Amino acid sequence: MSQNCIFCKIVAGKSGGPPLYQDEHVTAFKDINPQAPLHVLVIPNKHIVSLNEAEAEDRVLLGHLFLTAAKLAQQEGVAASGYRLVTNTGPNGGQSVFHLHLHLLGGRRLTWPPG
Ligand code: 5GP
Ligand code: ZN
Repeated sequence: MSQNCIFCKIVAGKSGGPPLYQDEHVTAFKDINPQAPLHVLVIPNKHIVSLNEAEAEDRVLLGHLFLTAAKLAQQEGVAASGYRLVTNTGPNGGQSVFHLHLHLLGGRRLTWPPG
């Protein structure tokens, strides 16, 4: 846990409501400022600043992060219609919270390229 990290506080149950999903390794919760009808954040419980700081030892964790997002897409009813997973990294990527996260966006037709 990193002090002053809002996502670490959510993992610890010290901020936000009950998560959508949580296990020993990952936590999923609704984005506070949704950009689509479904906008869920899926994060590792471990504090990893961004994908730049992920290491080889995190490979199973990162796989679990993706599979959890796919399971939630199924559970939330957007698997068939489609969805997008996004990981913003660093200033040009638009990252604003420095605890690695996957955005799961769905429920509307998303445009490409992103802004
Ligand atoms: P980023 O800009 O780093 O890719 O994404 C950070 C996301 O976290 C944003 O979509 C923002 O709305 C969301 N967010 C920031 N603070 C909180 C919070 O306290 N609770 C929740 N649920 N989402 C948050
Ligand atoms: Zn953190």
